[in-house]
Amino acid sequence: MNRFDVDLFVIGGGSAGVRAGRIAAGHGARVMVAEEYRVGGTCVIRGCVPKKLLVYASRFRDEFEDAAGFGWSVPEARFDWATLIRNKDTEIARLEGIYRANLEKAGVEIVDARAVIEDAHTVRLVKSGTRVSAGTILVAVGAHPTLEPVIPGGDLGITSNEVFHMEHFPERILVIGGGYIAVEFAGVFAGLGSNVTLLHRGDKLLRGFDEDVRDALGEAYAKHGISLALGRTVERLDRKGGAITATLSDGSVLEVDQVLVATGRRPNTAGLGLEAAGLTLDAVGAIPVDGFSQTLTPSIYAVGDVTNRANLTPVAIREGHAFADTVFGGKPTMVDHSLIPTAVFSTPEIGVVGLSETTARRLHGEIDVYKTSFRPMKETLSGRDERTFMKLIVDRASDKVLGVHVMGHDAGEMIQLVGVAVTMGATKADFDRTIAVHPTAAEELVTMRTPFVVKTPVAVG
Ligand SMILES: Cc1cc2nc3c(=O)[nH]c(=O)nc-3n(C[C@H](O)[C@H](O)[C@H](O)COP(=O)(O)OP(=O)(O)OC[C@H]3O[C@@H](n4cnc5c(N)ncnc54)[C@H](O)[C@@H]3O)c2cc1C
Repeated sequence: MNRFDVDLFVIGGGSAGVRAGRIAAGHGARVMVAEEYRVGGTCVIRGCVPKKLLVYASRFRDEFEDAAGFGWSVPEARFDWATLIRNKDTEIARLEGIYRANLEKAGVEIVDARAVIEDAHTVRLVKSGTRVSAGTILVAVGAHPTLEPVIPGGDLGITSNEVFHMEHFPERILVIGGGYIAVEFAGVFAGLGSNVTLLHRGDKLLRGFDEDVRDALGEAYAKHGISLALGRTVERLDRKGGAITATLSDGSVLEVDQVLVATGRRPNTAGLGLEAAGLTLDAVGAIPVDGFSQTLTPSIYAVGDVTNRANLTPVAIREGHAFADTVFGGKPTMVDHSLIPTAVFSTPEIGVVGLSETTARRLHGEIDVYKTSFRPMKETLSGRDERTFMKLIVDRASDKVLGVHVMGHDAGEMIQLVGVAVTMGATKADFDRTIAVHPTAAEELVTMRTPFVVKTPVAVG
């Protein structure tokens, strides 16, 4: 006789919840997953996947232009937003179907409903009022975009949730934010032909990234015709006929067709009943967990964006998998969050693994920095004024590569593979003895010989 209706109740059918549910079922657990919107979660439905499709769409403009230098004449290209969105929606629906099918194949029961926690072992399905008891509850509810800071007329703006379903293509768009989502959408709309202003209160884009990369992206975006409004905020938004006016902190007024606010995301913990289960949230509303994703209530675990550790899909998936192995597979597994390769799908693209120069200097003291900036081969005939930037940061004492930063074509693809080497603890000597692949841009990563900056910190006292 089972004491609980299910062994595992997963709240949220996104990247983390789907993986956790599938793996736990594979370990023999009776699993139920509740999803209030669409299975697949943010990444599949309104995040990484549709975004990347839009990024692909946005890069054709450059391709059409560049083709001329290679002998092609391309008739004037025209872009149709409705076709792109329709095709994107078809693909997302296909992927959602696959996610559902995979869960069902694994024996997981899917409930299309919002679920809230009643106590440490009970979940209530909001639509039907049904109560389900569970040996373990996994909270994998993700996060949502916020329209912050709150300003007069702020609700005239849209977030990344709505941007994928805009009815009309904006000829003029104001993107607010300096993080990767803002940067990516600014690149997308510029490529698709909008007149883009990217406004950020800081003095550079992509806080936390290497300073050279931040500078290089700012220059590249300005060259691409994106108007950067840095060190400024928006004071108010007003409707003006079919347009929106944005009054900026420097007193200037900008008229646009759309305002995309990408200033932050918050965990989906409001009204979830966590307090009833004895849990306290942190300052941003995230659920505190230990290295095994367990909360202070032993039967409740949390994974993915709702824990606000590293808000990326592969991390959410890894956390979900580790949870299932720990609790149902008899294999306690912690996720190492210390080295996470990541990409920004700006155009040009950015790939990063490991430490920035500033952080490396702070943590390791004596480092060597290798960097190069060059015109990629393709741009010799295209004539495009675009450069590729690469940087290696090496610990002088151990020769270990601490950080790799790439900006240019296919940087995301490159960094995935460099990430293997860096995760394995590769040294600069390992990079040096790797034979180059020629002619590629990536070969520069193994052919940089002379440290760009050699600084020895001065001993104090
Ligand atoms: C525009 C955008 C672009 C992104 N691009 C990338 C990228 O390129 N690479 C990358 O790695 N990451 C990217 N991310 C981040 C990535 O999407 C998230 O890190 C990832 O989806 C987190 O997975 P999760 O399972 O924690 O949450 P989610 O995927 O958000 O899943 C949570 C699910 O829970 C459901 N839910 C919430 N509350 C309840 C409830 N009470 N009951 C039932 N269901 C509920 C939600 O509907 C949702 O489906 C992007 C995010 C955005 C917004």
